[in-house]
Amino acid sequence: MQHRNPQQSAPDDSIHAKVSAGSVEMEAGSEFISLRPKHLKEYVGQAKVVETLKIAIEAALKRKEPLDHILFHGPPGLGKTTLGHIIAEEMGVNITITSGPALEKGGDLLGILTHLEEGDVLFIDEIHRLPRVVEEFLYPAMEDFAVDFIFDKGIYARSHRYRLERFALVGATTRAGLLSPPIRERFGMFRTLDFYSANDLAKIARRSAALLDVNIDNDGAYEIACRSRGTPRIVNRLLKRVRDFAQVRGDGAIRKVTVQEALALEGVDEKGLTVLDRKFLTAVIDFYKGGPVGIEAIAATLQEESDTLMDVVEPYLLKIGFLTRTSSGRKVSEEAYRHFGLPIQQGLFR
Ligand code: ADP
Repeated sequence: MQHRNPQQSAPDDSIHAKVSAGSVEMEAGSEFISLRPKHLKEYVGQAKVVETLKIAIEAALKRKEPLDHILFHGPPGLGKTTLGHIIAEEMGVNITITSGPALEKGGDLLGILTHLEEGDVLFIDEIHRLPRVVEEFLYPAMEDFAVDFIFDKGIYARSHRYRLERFALVGATTRAGLLSPPIRERFGMFRTLDFYSANDLAKIARRSAALLDVNIDNDGAYEIACRSRGTPRIVNRLLKRVRDFAQVRGDGAIRKVTVQEALALEGVDEKGLTVLDRKFLTAVIDFYKGGPVGIEAIAATLQEESDTLMDVVEPYLLKIGFLTRTSSGRKVSEEAYRHFGLPIQQGLFR
């Protein structure tokens, strides 16, 4: 297997980025410090996924073969892209990053596929949003490492078969259900990432604080963890807001009370609910008597995209039991009423 060339420069392409593994690293002291773990041993939580990957990577390296195609599923911010980078780093290959909606025509994908080197990782985010014509290109590419490209139309149509280097496709999706069966079946591994425990999120908060050179105590880290909706990306976002607050209003150190005060300003409550989460729940309570109500009706009331509500808002509300999904629609739970201090009407939850 051909290994990466660290000198290789990424082509100027704003939609699809080819990154030599390791090149995403930022030097401490530069303007931007990457909080992304670069190796599996730094990746916090998701123990089973990490174990599966360790075995698969070690086996592929021993056989000097590319990794099998992998599909990661889970809500945004749980670490799917991070795993794509880690896989490339651990395999010692390049990663090319693109996303379903960025690939409009078969030719877009062909350009990327023909530039892949042996063993490279191709990461496709939001793979469930690949247009059908592009998806059909991917089937033979995944299975036979070849693509048939048809030039011209009608009697002038000519087909050319391109041989590809063997690559590993890493797909990420927030909605595995929207993926067509033919593409799903071509992945050798399929793993769902779960929301993280508060302990794991606290570990991430401490790790990120150390990278940002911010002083945080255990209670401060745990408080951020509890308000991060089970999501590492939110830990990092809240940590940065609390860091600003601590520097301006305090002595720069982050303690539990610093987090409480800073996040009250951000509109993040003690359960981690954001303004949008609360708007979602109160819309169902105020306009639809707590439900059941369809997602499209909620989206219309909030003037939000239903996809955003389904991808970003609902998974965590379902996870903490503030929302339930029934065949007739979404229902707000008794716990949510209690969280808002609202009276529970007689018979509402029978
Ligand atoms: P996704 O692709 O699932 O939307 P990302 O991989 O972009 O999520 O993760 C968002 C951020 O959260 C990353 O930049 C990284 O800093 C952090 N992160 C994600 N997972 C972990 C983890 N397991 N350990 C530490 N940090 C993590």
